[in-house]
Amino acid sequence: MTKLQKPDYAYMNGKITPWDDAVLHIGCEAVTRGLNVFEGIKGYWNIDNSFGIVFLEKHYKRLIRSAKLLHIPFPMTFEQYEDAVFQLFGKLLANGKDMWARTTLYVTEGHWGEGTKADLVITAYHLDKSVPEPIDIGVSTWQRSSDVSLPARIKTSTNYQVGRLARIEGRSRNYSDMILLNNQGRVAEATGSCVLMVRDGVIYTPPSTEGALESITLDFVESLANTLKIPFFRRPIDRTELLIADELCICGTLAELIPIVSIDGNEMDSYGPIFSQIRNKFFKIVRGEESDPGFEVSFVPEKYFKKEIAMQI
Ligand code: PMP
Repeated sequence: MTKLQKPDYAYMNGKITPWDDAVLHIGCEAVTRGLNVFEGIKGYWNIDNSFGIVFLEKHYKRLIRSAKLLHIPFPMTFEQYEDAVFQLFGKLLANGKDMWARTTLYVTEGHWGEGTKADLVITAYHLDKSVPEPIDIGVSTWQRSSDVSLPARIKTSTNYQVGRLARIEGRSRNYSDMILLNNQGRVAEATGSCVLMVRDGVIYTPPSTEGALESITLDFVESLANTLKIPFFRRPIDRTELLIADELCICGTLAELIPIVSIDGNEMDSYGPIFSQIRNKFFKIVRGEESDPGFEVSFVPEKYFKKEIAMQI
């Protein structure tokens, strides 16, 4: 079973707050209707001992779009958002450990869309520096909701109920993740990442209009593919194409790039050549060993670091 970390601090009500004090009232819409929008962001230690958060501004912009679609006010500027993230990372950073943070806008006041107020809460967790292992995956019997039921474009926790059901279903078949189809029976995405396929040397991925989140990592992979001169197209993907693909992988901020070795028990013919090239480049870039025109990083300034960490680097 996954053991969740309990860090010493979270960010809430505009300040660093001890973990146990970071609580919401049971009467607020964040609790009664699961009303929130969020982002999962990742920070990496670089080879020069700086700590870089990848695509922070893109995450901020997607948070704004999600908030707008659910009519949740979010008056923070990017600089204020960045400062809040830097504060918490600075407080929790451990030398050599990467971090993943969830920046969540919880609805704390209001009722059925009237008088809505929200608070930005940030929680952050340590991650070991590692390259993700290949996985087996299945296709779920649960479906991604459509744009007129619960739009995939909105990154809200309620959108993850179906992903949770899919993972429960997958666990009984020994799969750690599952692919969700849309209500047309075509590939939408995995429970927390996007799906990529290689056929005859070309990378394909479904456009977000097929029921996938507008993924920041996917745009980065597209840029890497351009740099490596590997053709990359967004087009609908049929379920059966997954079974005859040359390579499959899933990608996301937390997932990074995870190769798939079998789908619904069908071993892939081969796995490796195209996505290995992308993966090698991906990990070199996020650790500051190489650059790419499609890459953006925000380094946590040293003034935010705890004294112990500042002294070690
Ligand atoms: N789809 C879902 C459902 C996700 O939760 C994520 C992770 N945020 C993704 C796709 C990948 O998005 P990103 O690359 O922006 O992390």
